[in-house]
Amino acid sequence: MERRNLLKEKDVLRHVYHKHITPQTCDQMLQSNHRQNRRNIISTRNLNIYLINMLWMRESSLTQRFLLWILLPAVVSSSSDNFQKALELMEEAPLIDGHNDLPLQLRILYQTRLSEANLRNLTKTKTNIKKLKDGHVGAQFWSAYIMCNAQNQDAVRLTLEQIDLIKRMCESYEEFQLVTSSEGLTQSDKIACLIGIEGGHSIDSSLGALRMFYDLGVRYMGLTHTCNTPWAETSSVGVHNFYPRNISLTDFGKEFVKKNERLGMIIDLSHTSASTARAVLEISEAPVIFSHSSAFGVCPHHRNVPDDILHSLKKNKGLVMINFHSEFVACNKTATVASVADHFDYIKKIAGAELIGIGGDYDGADGFPEGLEDVSKYPVLIQELLNRSWNEEELKGVLRTNFLRVFKNIEKVRNNSASLKPSEVEIPTKEVENPCRLNLKQYGKSLRNKTPSLYTSKLYFSLILFIVLVCIW
Ligand SMILES: [Zn+2]
Repeated sequence: MERRNLLKEKDVLRHVYHKHITPQTCDQMLQSNHRQNRRNIISTRNLNIYLINMLWMRESSLTQRFLLWILLPAVVSSSSDNFQKALELMEEAPLIDGHNDLPLQLRILYQTRLSEANLRNLTKTKTNIKKLKDGHVGAQFWSAYIMCNAQNQDAVRLTLEQIDLIKRMCESYEEFQLVTSSEGLTQSDKIACLIGIEGGHSIDSSLGALRMFYDLGVRYMGLTHTCNTPWAETSSVGVHNFYPRNISLTDFGKEFVKKNERLGMIIDLSHTSASTARAVLEISEAPVIFSHSSAFGVCPHHRNVPDDILHSLKKNKGLVMINFHSEFVACNKTATVASVADHFDYIKKIAGAELIGIGGDYDGADGFPEGLEDVSKYPVLIQELLNRSWNEEELKGVLRTNFLRVFKNIEKVRNNSASLKPSEVEIPTKEVENPCRLNLKQYGKSLRNKTPSLYTSKLYFSLILFIVLVCIW
């Protein structure tokens, strides 16, 4: 009997979500629904599942079952209509996602040997080309991320290798196209590839390195990952012990922010401390983004954005690209589509829908909500937001146009600054505290003060000898 009921539940679930739900996902959802039972969060999608559960549970009374038989078709049909509507909307406005760590997985799993991986059907990752297409992803910021442990060691080389990997990846698959401008992004009919750097340790406190990364196609720059840099503070406490005295943004950090903007590089504040984010927002002339963070007001995690920063970001016309990782969404390991949608509702209420984008963080974290397990599931979230009465304009903004606004705006700041000469500011050596750094100033000083070489001495000696001999003669 139990087994027959379970089979019926599976049939109904698969019917509700058409073929977009795999048998495995179906099993996971059912297990979870039985666990959650009557304490489901009230949203249309969860209501469906709740109703289905009630329908097949032996303890439901006859009256309950009768009422449910009447309610279920209406709820199921409205939800399924919205799924179709979500797909149509995403066809029209394919998603620009702010953060994906597939390149890191390719380093870990294949040591960056792209020839050994088939990106069309990778199975060990949450991202592959088929899933990106199913998820209606029109553009993806690939993260050229390298761990903080490489700070002051080989972070720059490793970041360059990650950029090389992303470029090779995007050039060797016809489904991808590398783009570096808002115009390129708008015109691309493939999955547009964009590059972002996650953490200031990747540039080794060098504005020259920053400019070269821009020339290579990088279009956003995260100020920190989980470690302080010499000039900016991370939100992660106690993970690394770099520059512990740094508690916000230093003068060089401020210079760095201004130079990023004039270059056309978007500043990414995900992973920075709230104090650093506030300092950046005070001086920024261009919109900034949080490429993969959620709302602190819903889940008070240090990776999320507090309300006062949301207000400042509204003035800045910036963007929070909401992160799906369960721990940032629900502050624990289990989350649902509804938990993610709560962050959308919250930020919309605090600062407006035009402040919102999506930065799923797939392949960069362990643990994603039920129903949003990989990059093919984005339409399920859009369906949930439609169920919550988000209108098409707001959703197109979330999917695409809000990011395009930020991108176009920073390009305008870059164009207006075109006549300015590149900055030659260097970080003070004592702030970097890195003995491995070659001190060329010292080298130049020693060259200037050098005593005459042996060759010069011999020349002087020969000259004097010649003069003496001429005088005697
Ligand atoms: Zn991250």
